Amino acid sequence: MPAINLLPDNQRIDTGTVYCIGRNYIKHIQELENEVNAEPVLFLKPAASLITQQRQIELPTYSADVHHETEIVLLVGREGRNISEDDALQHIEGVGIGLDLTARDTQTALRDKGLPWTVAKGFETAACVSDFLPAERLGDLSHLRFTLRVNGELRQEGDSSLMIFSIPKIIAYISSIITLHPGDLVFTGTPHGVARIAPGDSLELSLEDILHARFTVAERM
Ligand code: MG
Repeated sequence: MPAINLLPDNQRIDTGTVYCIGRNYIKHIQELENEVNAEPVLFLKPAASLITQQRQIELPTYSADVHHETEIVLLVGREGRNISEDDALQHIEGVGIGLDLTARDTQTALRDKGLPWTVAKGFETAACVSDFLPAERLGDLSHLRFTLRVNGELRQEGDSSLMIFSIPKIIAYISSIITLHPGDLVFTGTPHGVARIAPGDSLELSLEDILHARFTVAERM
């Protein structure tokens, strides 16, 4: 699994657990006809599913409907358990932009049977991340704008101000369950506009027009 790159000095940081928050934007919950939960929906991706821009996205053979989910990704910099919302930002070292790739057909089948999502969310290359910027470079994390373009066309547009569970709430919530460690990553949920990706697609992500990343989808083998 790769180390991630922390700008501006290109510091390489070994990654730990990859946490993901689901159902964190109202319009995305509506487009999938899910329910708003009282607590964040938390799931994991295997560390081995993480890729940086050095690798192409590989679509799993068992899915005909892999979706992009564009998300702000947090890099934890300081260990903490039971972190308060007031202290949460002190535990975030970096902020990036990423893709929580999801085999939607597989996820729907698993969800309907009440089974875990790992096969739908945890396949090879399913967690794509940009380089990371130091959190202080971005200023107010409660107003971060981000976009996804696929083959040049705007597909997703989000803003952290529209999150149901804010970034401090997410950090407080996860650390109330288990200790967060330096190098852990947190995907914070996708806005609406999720859709299928196909071999040959070029996905361009941007955060606040400061941070950019590009991933391409490999041809099927
Ligand atoms: Mg997601």
